[in-house]
Parts: sequence; structure tokens; C-alpha cells
Amino acid sequence: MNKTAVVAGGAGFLGSHLCESLINSGIKVICMDNLGTGRMENLGAIIKNKKFRFIKHDVRRPLKVKGRVDYVFHLASYASPPYYQAKSIETLLTNSVGTYNILEFCRLKKARYLITSTSEAYGDPKEHPQKETYWGNVNPVGIRSCYDEAKRFAEAMTMEFVRKFKVDARIIRIFNTYGPRLQKDDGRVISNFIWQAQHDKDLTIYGDGSQTRSFCYVSDQIKGLTAAMMKDGLAGEVINIGNPDEFTVKEAAVIIKEMTGSKSKIIYKPLPKDDPTRRKPDITKAKKILGWEPQVKLREGLSHTIKWFADGK
Ligand code: UDP
Repeated sequence: MNKTAVVAGGAGFLGSHLCESLINSGIKVICMDNLGTGRMENLGAIIKNKKFRFIKHDVRRPLKVKGRVDYVFHLASYASPPYYQAKSIETLLTNSVGTYNILEFCRLKKARYLITSTSEAYGDPKEHPQKETYWGNVNPVGIRSCYDEAKRFAEAMTMEFVRKFKVDARIIRIFNTYGPRLQKDDGRVISNFIWQAQHDKDLTIYGDGSQTRSFCYVSDQIKGLTAAMMKDGLAGEVINIGNPDEFTVKEAAVIIKEMTGSKSKIIYKPLPKDDPTRRKPDITKAKKILGWEPQVKLREGLSHTIKWFADGK
């Protein structure tokens, strides 16, 4: 029988790629989004597909869907630092009240659940690379806490639904992901650098650029999320999905400048408060349990992303 998935946050960067991939594998998709940062343009390739339905809905209100639902992906949240800081209360509520509403929906529908948590759950990590067992180093009252603590709360809520109601829920901590459909004004490092390089604007490194991130291409991320949802027996499991190839922000700037052939200068701006110094996933668990590991190297993923930006999307 045909399976049905609800994707909360389905019109966003990751959500839209996920909806597309689910449809292509024959699953019916109900995409829910309040269009806070999600965009209908992201759904262009599937909006007319018979297996696809869009519902404009904010998960801070209870979810209502008729009929059977097999899978619920919870990707609803502001996710880039400038956005979640500008929409801090909304971010806190989406990840708390919203997560509760989605979990209640899963409980009633007996649906399997996956939440995209974040590497931010580890804060500015003192352990490197970060394993799922690490509890993190998060400033609970800093400017990033509206996101970090909200996601940690969402993880706690998820675990209680596993313990108390046996909801088949898994938590995926996703690390910096990039690719086509990142918005040019999203404020994240890869989209900023590409847009700046293509418009002969200065590439803005925050701090001295020695902080590191490990960048995962979107197709790898979607494969990881799907594998984690489809695998039986993962209730209560926490799994990192990201690419362990670690780069400094300065290296990322130099690579993007070179790949775009840009004449832009690289300039330095103040480092935002609580900006994590290092970040790299330990993906031993994902490899072992899901048989998943990323395939796309940074330069290859960047070439697709640069092309997408150049096409003026
Ligand atoms: N960053 C930067 N220049 C920019 C945007 C971001 O140097 O124009 C830095 C930012 O300070 C952080 C890293 O790049 O150290 C990754 O930032 P991003 O906002 O992409 O995500 P984060 O991993 O911090 O959530």
C-alpha cells in the first residue's frame, strides 16, 4: 500500500529537497509550512504531482490531517543564525509547542517520527569530533540559546514521547548543510560567500576565519535523513548526519573565491558572540546503523551550488 509522509517545514531548503526525494520514491507527501522562511518556488518541481499536497499551517497550532499517515518529518524551524535570532520567540515556540503538537499528532496517528535537531545541541564543543554521547557546551542564556536550547528541549520532548507513549521517534543532529535553494539572504556562510563572490562584493569573514565547520551537501543529507526514517528499530536513537570533512571559514572563502573566479576582496568583521570554534561530526554511528556516509566532496557540491546561484534562482 502507498505510504504517506507529512513533512513539516517542507517548503524550506532541506524540506523541499526531502519532499521531492520522497515523491520520487513513490511516497505520498503532505507538505506543511507556514512560509516563514519556506517558499512555494522551492516546490516548483512537484507542486502539480498527484502524490503531493501542500497545507499552509503553523505547527504552533495542532495538526489535523485526514486519513492514515505513516511518517512525520519535523523540519519546521528557523535555522540560520540571523533568522532565528530575529525570530527568537517564534523559534522557541516552534521547537517547543510545535514539537509537542507534532509528537501528539504522531501518537494519535501511530506514525513514525523524525526530528532534525542540530549540531548546535553541542554548543561550542569541548569534545572533537562530536559524538552523539557528548552532552554539549551550550550557553543557556546567550544569543544562540533561542535555537540551541529550543532544539535541546525538542529532543527532551521527543524522548518523553518515546518513553511514555512508545512513539517510534528518532533524533537526527544535522551539521551545516548547503546546496541549491539556500536563499541568498539566508545569512549562512556558504550562501553569503557565493552571493558576495558573484556580485563582486567583499567576502565577509567573521572573526579571523580560523573557526571550522564541516559542510554536507544537500543530497547526502537527504539520503541520511531518509535512511534514518526508513530503518526499523531506531526509537529513541540520536544520530549525527553530516560530512566530517572539516574546513576553516577562511579556507571556505578562498575556495569559493577561486571557484567563482571572483575579484572580490576578503574582509574581516567581528565574530558574533558564542560562535562555535570547531565543529565536526563523528559519523561512526550513522555508518554502522544506517550504512550511510556522505559521497559529495566540498568542491563538487559547491560547483552545483555556485551554478544554481549563477542561474539567478
Ligand atoms: N560566517 C562568516 N561570514 C559570513 C557568515 C558566517 O564568517 O558571512 C561564519 C560564522 O561566524 C560561523 C560560520 O561562518 O563561524 C558558519 O556560520 P553559519 O551562519 O553558516 O552557521 P553556524 O554553523 O554558525 O550555525
